[in-house]
Amino acid sequence: MISMQGTGVSPGVASGTLHFYHAANADVRRIVVFDRDAEWERFLTAQAAAVEQLGVLAEEVRQKSGDDAAALLEGHQLLAEDPDLTDGVEALIREQGLCAEAAVMDAGKALAEEFAALDDPYLKERSADIKDVSGRIVSCLNGGSGTAALPGPVILAAEDLAPSETVQLDKDLLLGLVTAGGSASGHTAIMARTMGIPAVIGAADILDPALEGKEVFIDGDTGTIIVEPDPETRAELLTKQEEQRKHAQLLKTLQGQPSVTLDGQAVRVCCNIAGPQDVPAVLENDGEGVGLFRSEFLYLGREDYPDEETQFEAYREVLSALSDREIIIRTLDIGADKQIGYLDLPKEENPALGKRALRICLDRPELFRTQLRAMYRASAYGRLGIMFPMVASEWEVREACVMCEKVQHELKEEGIPFSDEVKIGIMVETPAAAVMSDRLAQLVDFFSIGTNDLTQYTLACDRQNRSLGRFCDTHHPAVLRLIRLVAENAHRHGVLVSICGELAADLSLTETFLAMGIDELSVSPRSVLPLRQKVRETDVSACRSALLEALD
Ligand code: PEP
Ligand code: MG
Repeated sequence: MISMQGTGVSPGVASGTLHFYHAANADVRRIVVFDRDAEWERFLTAQAAAVEQLGVLAEEVRQKSGDDAAALLEGHQLLAEDPDLTDGVEALIREQGLCAEAAVMDAGKALAEEFAALDDPYLKERSADIKDVSGRIVSCLNGGSGTAALPGPVILAAEDLAPSETVQLDKDLLLGLVTAGGSASGHTAIMARTMGIPAVIGAADILDPALEGKEVFIDGDTGTIIVEPDPETRAELLTKQEEQRKHAQLLKTLQGQPSVTLDGQAVRVCCNIAGPQDVPAVLENDGEGVGLFRSEFLYLGREDYPDEETQFEAYREVLSALSDREIIIRTLDIGADKQIGYLDLPKEENPALGKRALRICLDRPELFRTQLRAMYRASAYGRLGIMFPMVASEWEVREACVMCEKVQHELKEEGIPFSDEVKIGIMVETPAAAVMSDRLAQLVDFFSIGTNDLTQYTLACDRQNRSLGRFCDTHHPAVLRLIRLVAENAHRHGVLVSICGELAADLSLTETFLAMGIDELSVSPRSVLPLRQKVRETDVSACRSALLEALD
């Protein structure tokens, strides 16, 4: 048995025979041509063929994997006609008499290197796209279709795989994907996730020729790769695979079914997401909406603030892709365990009790304003709710609402469209907010209970501190009583109440939450269907009083 560690970028366990991918254009002919005009014409014909191929492919991919995957290929169409690439090729053909194949490879390589040298991680990634597009034009010069065939069901290993190569591989034969290079935000990883194929990147040793044809297991969650596992490891991996198979089965039977109890009580089962990349998972798992979009992920892993346009695009993408469902975007929740250097926050003794979330936004109105502008602009594309995290006092909500009004006024003045049906809500995740929920309910449209922080602050247990063990009881009656209080106060004032912390997915509490009348449970996409199943098996009227009395 050999084990290797890479980075899991598309979840799931896959097993099969390891097959090495050999790029069709690894070696191109390199000759000097006599008729330079004819060679230039050859290039133009191949360029047009590549653009056409990409258009056809984009349509196929749109049917199979949705708009995001297709958009990538449409981007490649534009790149295939990029003026810098075209000019570079023309210069090499006309000035040096280089054959079109070598001219495309050289000009593509030079342009790719320019992109790779840029600081912006997004533009850096475009380097791989340029290489991909150049390879396709060369393939067209050679009369190729640009489609790679697989010998049978395999785990595919490659140095790196261009996105257009990835989407063309037969989905029924591609069991999993491992690359030696690549990055989690790279398009290959994105494509693998979109196609639902387990993938691991950055596994430098996978291309050892001795491994080709061997049996391999890859775990796209942990990034582990096991070649020829011993019996015990094989059993573990097969169990995980079996769990996934069951999940897929569940998916089929519960897709499109309502989340309603046996006695007819409905609850909305929604998803927690971190950005547009999670939209396919929401759709696949039949999330009934997005109960928590943690917008801070747009701010993490960057050198500087995401500007209004960047944020608008991300919010718009989610809202338009899920325009039939409600999307709750939480304003920036940074601080405590999520730090970003460019915010220049002073070091704090107790960051969990310090400047975080709404506190930062209220103290930095420009930061807050930019985010709210992006959100309101995106509201024109779907059904938006805006939610403020870490509220402790009524004045904080009032001040945040004033900023929302200001932003709406600005957009109106500028003639920028936005929806006038945007809902405003708060996270109830401090004991103060829970205790004051009767008053807070008069200021907002909805509550979402953040049980992760509510537990931390109620029990005085740092959520990052694993050693607290039994002292940090997530089922503690103090927390459950606060949740019940929030639900009662919310309903008394006609406010919807959701739970979006980890506890929402805890199936041992589903009956209790239903008994409290919680309107929505928002969980990670993979938890939606198991939770729906639990809801559909529950008879709340039979257990309501006993469950509520147990909390008295
Ligand atoms: C929570 O606190 O329960 C919550 C959902 O927010 P986060 O985990 O992002 O702090
Ligand atoms: Mg929280």
